[in-house]
Amino acid sequence: MTDLTVTGDAPGAPEPSAPRTGEMVRVENVYKSFGSTEVLKGIDMVVRPAEVCCMIGPSGSGKSTLLRCVNHLEKINAGRIWVDGDLVGYRERGGKLHELREKEVAAQRRAIGMVFQRFNLFPHLTAIENVMEAPVRVTRLAKSTAKTEAAALLDRVGLADKLLNYPAQLSGGQQQRVAIARALAMRPKLMLFDEPTSALDPELVGEVLDVMKGLAKDGMTMIVVTHEIGFAREVGDTLVFMDGGVIVESGDPRVVLANPQHQRTKAFLAKVL
Ligand code: ADP
Ligand code: MG
Repeated sequence: MTDLTVTGDAPGAPEPSAPRTGEMVRVENVYKSFGSTEVLKGIDMVVRPAEVCCMIGPSGSGKSTLLRCVNHLEKINAGRIWVDGDLVGYRERGGKLHELREKEVAAQRRAIGMVFQRFNLFPHLTAIENVMEAPVRVTRLAKSTAKTEAAALLDRVGLADKLLNYPAQLSGGQQQRVAIARALAMRPKLMLFDEPTSALDPELVGEVLDVMKGLAKDGMTMIVVTHEIGFAREVGDTLVFMDGGVIVESGDPRVVLANPQHQRTKAFLAKVL
């Protein structure tokens, strides 16, 4: 078995603390490199249940990598990440971290829904089949139950009249809403969005943001990487500004946007606002 000791390697890094109740995500002193390129340089972050955490920052600042680490699609080099109190990807025993088995990682990942910039729907399946696929294949839900639930989810994202359409017969905004319904079908406790509207024509952005707004209102915990500053201001509970692999500043979106404290935040906002 791999025996990884993943601890903060920064000088004077504090011992990792256990997550507290009332925390859906806890990221502590996380480092991630690709080869000799250090992409995440000591990330600390907490997201509470039902919180909407919006992340902004220049291209290449590490936003996608951080989301992928939370989902254990990337292995971190140092630090700790917990989701709903469980260490992501590892089990702690005798002060050391042991990598979870593939099946255990898959189980952790199922509790986290992810929506990407590209919709990644199965082109040969209809909207409802796309939404039913994982519940039937992965959790062995009865087809009839999965179908009823998928129809309800597609209704929730405003696509009750598109159940039988194939992805090619849907607009980009509709496809992205199917992708959101598909992620919700696994009943995640956390949703990660990585620039979900960046690939859409401007006139289709609003319908996807509206669905995300609805989710937020229903109490879903969400981390949203986005360039939609208006969404962050209106829906976000927290705004995190990342640059160069670190969190430069974070706080109430309305406060950060109106009164950024750091020069790098000011420079970025001047470009996007
Ligand atoms: P952002 O989402 O903020 O644009 P990313 O997390 O995608 O930033 O990328 C941060 C940096 O990490 C970039 O320099 C990118 O080239 C690098 N990177 C991301 N994924 C990989 C990978 N799989 N292999 C090598 N470098 C990567
Ligand atoms: Mg990215």
